[in-house]
Amino acid sequence: GSQSFIRLQKAVEDVLGKKYYLPVHQGRAAENIISNVYVKKGNIVPMNYHFTTAMAHITQYGGSMAELLYDEAYVVDSSHPFKGNMHIEKLEALIQQQPGNIPFIRMEASTNLIGGQPFSLQNLRDVRAIADKYKIKLVLDASLIGENAYLILKREPEFKSSSIGEIIKKMTELADLVYFSARKLSSSRGGGICTNNHALYKEMETLVPLFEGFLTYGGISIREIEAMTVGLYETLDETVISQSPSFIEYLVNALHEKGVPVIRPAGVLGAHIDAMQVCAHIPQTQYPAGALAAALFLVSGIRGMERGSISNQRDEAGNETYADMELVRLAVPRRVFTLSQIKYVEDRMTWLYQNRHLIGGLKFVYEPPVLRFFMGGLEPTSDWPQQLMAQFRKDFGDSL
Ligand SMILES: *Cc1c(COP(=O)(O)O)cnc(C)c1O
Repeated sequence: GSQSFIRLQKAVEDVLGKKYYLPVHQGRAAENIISNVYVKKGNIVPMNYHFTTAMAHITQYGGSMAELLYDEAYVVDSSHPFKGNMHIEKLEALIQQQPGNIPFIRMEASTNLIGGQPFSLQNLRDVRAIADKYKIKLVLDASLIGENAYLILKREPEFKSSSIGEIIKKMTELADLVYFSARKLSSSRGGGICTNNHALYKEMETLVPLFEGFLTYGGISIREIEAMTVGLYETLDETVISQSPSFIEYLVNALHEKGVPVIRPAGVLGAHIDAMQVCAHIPQTQYPAGALAAALFLVSGIRGMERGSISNQRDEAGNETYADMELVRLAVPRRVFTLSQIKYVEDRMTWLYQNRHLIGGLKFVYEPPVLRFFMGGLEPTSDWPQQLMAQFRKDFGDSL
């Protein structure tokens, strides 16, 4: 019953506009609780795009998902401002085909896995209209809502004079349930589910003491609760929220000028390199995005994240399900890097691109059944890392 929690509750209400708040230790814990309560075996959850942990929890409770993006979302080099938009006609068609089988619609702000691409506020309104028409709940994954709001401010003319705070509230008021990872939303450790609907709050409430901790801390330490509170308010500050997207835009444009295939327009979260093009010689069975991430680490010490088939999971029969896109994410979190560090990434990535023929494939040597990208182990399919490093030494010498 600490005062810190009261302050956090107030921050959630001030920033996200929701009265009832359930604290959880991380974003995925919110996904666990929401899936536990609402996803039944055989259910389908329509969404603009999945996130790894969201998918894992929905499938854990016997559900599946339908990803309903417009074709433009999968175009690497595009000028579409809102590649994260939900395909409205497909959404309505799916609901008509699956009466009673859709527990909720999930919208993810700044679609993490397809390059941090935002949806527009108009698109969210259109999704809300469908949700109302068919009386289906709308769940918003708000982990990256600040950045999505920033791009709405920059790209959606109707909101060009709004503040970040106003846009965030306009977004959250359209959703019945809002959940978030505080790692992203407030640069801390924690998360939450919030709503203005008391009945929904009650349906989930008992799972917090079961999985997380008591309702006044949800497994989050008091120190982190204070940090989350500060981080939530900082999300309203355009100078804080614009820093990461500005650096990402710089990096994306710089790489594009050097010919490196990169997701455009620049989104949020990071620059996303298209490994399908960089490693066109590596079949998807040998994980081109994982291989590119490994190669980049060898030549630079930069830790990119594979966002491709390794991040997918096998189907029920144990077959690989190949990702729509094979991306390497070079994440640029809030307030972490300087411009000279970003330029170093540009320099090394460009060298690697020029020597991309030396990159080879990967294979699993240890593959856990769920979330294999976290704990799996892979090895190269040949001695390509040695060849790559030999070329690196030839160009730069041993002193590096
Ligand atoms: C990170 C993330 C999550 C999961 O949050 P954790 O705090 O890592 O458990 C869920 N959704 C999105 C969009 C995310 O980026």
